[in-house]
Amino acid sequence: MVKIGLDAGHYAGDGRVDKDFRAALGTKDEYTLNLRVYKVVERILESSGHTVIDIGRQEQSVTVRAKRAAQNECDLVVSIHHNAGRGRGATLFRHKNGTMGSASRRLQESIYAHVEKINRGNRSTPINKEEFGVINCDVTKCPSVLVECAFMDNCTDIGLINSAGYAERMGAAIAAGINDYTGAAGNTGSGETDDKHAPVPAVVKTYNPAAYAKVRGLTKADSHLNVRSGPGTGHGILRQLANGNEVDVLTLYSNNWAKVNIVGQQGYVHADYLDIQERKPAKRIVTVTGCTALNVRTIPNGPVVAGIVKAGTVLDVIGSGKDSDGDTWLQVRHGGLAGFIWPKYVE
Ligand SMILES: [Zn+2]
Repeated sequence: MVKIGLDAGHYAGDGRVDKDFRAALGTKDEYTLNLRVYKVVERILESSGHTVIDIGRQEQSVTVRAKRAAQNECDLVVSIHHNAGRGRGATLFRHKNGTMGSASRRLQESIYAHVEKINRGNRSTPINKEEFGVINCDVTKCPSVLVECAFMDNCTDIGLINSAGYAERMGAAIAAGINDYTGAAGNTGSGETDDKHAPVPAVVKTYNPAAYAKVRGLTKADSHLNVRSGPGTGHGILRQLANGNEVDVLTLYSNNWAKVNIVGQQGYVHADYLDIQERKPAKRIVTVTGCTALNVRTIPNGPVVAGIVKAGTVLDVIGSGKDSDGDTWLQVRHGGLAGFIWPKYVE
């Protein structure tokens, strides 16, 4: 069981609200928005078996809130807010200075992996640092994160914030991130457990060229495969994959985790969920000549660019594919990057 210091930002006392925190385009003040999400997070965490301490109840001072977390020996602190100032999407802050930065960062990443699915894009810096007093770990004595759920002064975000079911979905996402983190931290209480110090598993196999794999075997109850920053569940979550997603597999470790490449981003997943197909070395190579920078797309003529290669780059040709017009694209690989290019730009 984990004791969680939870905070709905900007309570102004006696039912009053702080005018500075009125939502510019909405009708609600920030505290009201924060409290709606807070109540969902509290309910889910308590039903998950955790103890929730309301560190912000009846209190304006962020320092008092932070001290309340320490007095209650909380294992982590999450403060819930809504943002303003020309951005869009969620921003999660840990403290700029002081202790427990890496644990706080893992908590940030765990929550963001869930929260980003609720928002409609992001125009902020999602994993950020600030000197907010409520998340000062030197005072709270535990990993601490402030979640700005979305921007109250952005037309897209306020539409989302005011939409039916938003608080429920956002609260569930924050709670899921906290639950991921507490599972990962081993519920030790100190929050300082960091299995980055655990022995690195041995490399069992290196794939060269990188193998191809599709994600499979996920169930309805367990519908996402976490991509983590290291080979084990103690590492932070970078993103999530679903059944059918495709990755390049670079390395297999003795604990059956694999290092993978997903359109240019490297991470680690449990290999039980990968259908790994080794690839033969390239049959031929081509050189980018017809343009200064060439898009490598995830599917033939697809909208998603996996990466860009410059003129003069030598590419391995590993296959081909047809687009919806029936035109043939070359499937190429360059380092960890793989995808489709328009053949006119190479020779
Ligand atoms: Zn706020």
